[in-house]
Amino acid sequence: VLIDTGFGLRDVRHARQRLSRFFRTLNGIRLDEAETALRQIERLGFSAGDVRHIVLTHLDFDHAGGVEDFPGAAVHLLEAEWQAATAGRHGFIATRRYRPAQWDAGIDWRRYRPGGEGWFGFDAARGLDGLPPEILLVPLPGHTPGHCGVAVRANGDWRLLAGDAYFDLREMQPNPRCTPGLRLYQRMMETDRTARLANQARLRALARAETGAIDLFCSHDATELLRHAAAPA
Ligand SMILES: [Zn+2]
Repeated sequence: VLIDTGFGLRDVRHARQRLSRFFRTLNGIRLDEAETALRQIERLGFSAGDVRHIVLTHLDFDHAGGVEDFPGAAVHLLEAEWQAATAGRHGFIATRRYRPAQWDAGIDWRRYRPGGEGWFGFDAARGLDGLPPEILLVPLPGHTPGHCGVAVRANGDWRLLAGDAYFDLREMQPNPRCTPGLRLYQRMMETDRTARLANQARLRALARAETGAIDLFCSHDATELLRHAAAPA
């Protein structure tokens, strides 16, 4: 099971066609084939065919770019995100953040709506097709309409990948802060400010209340990445 795919092989090889010039320039994206999910799992001794499920936090260009590198995988996400990236793809940011060329090649989509039992006070989508109950979607809208966290329970402990619900680990501290650039970027990318800030506040409260019980991290904080890179798989 892969959670988010980052950039894929085709993004590295055909960046001009697949990614918008706006984001390539603004974010200073440096593409490296060795960093794609496929090459990383190959270094762990697996192959593309071993990936049978991909769970996505959302469909932004920097999260879903590698889905086509795993043609045998079912791709799980919230219905609201699929709608936003297809039917709702209008305007300057939406047409540049969602890049259908990254995921228009016969993807086996599995789309969900939240419902039933929640998770630590958050809504949840449980019972993902073919996946154990220890993997569930936790809707965290605001960054995009169908953005979600992915909760995974392993060895009795929960981990929550919060995706792009925050960008800087200091935003999870009691006095939240981040760099001005990241503050600006998050505002530019948000589709619902009220929901985004409310979800960030709820995650902050969760981090405070469940210290030690839930390992919370986001998609873009380098310190959090290094903390997990050092841990055994
Ligand atoms: Zn992102």
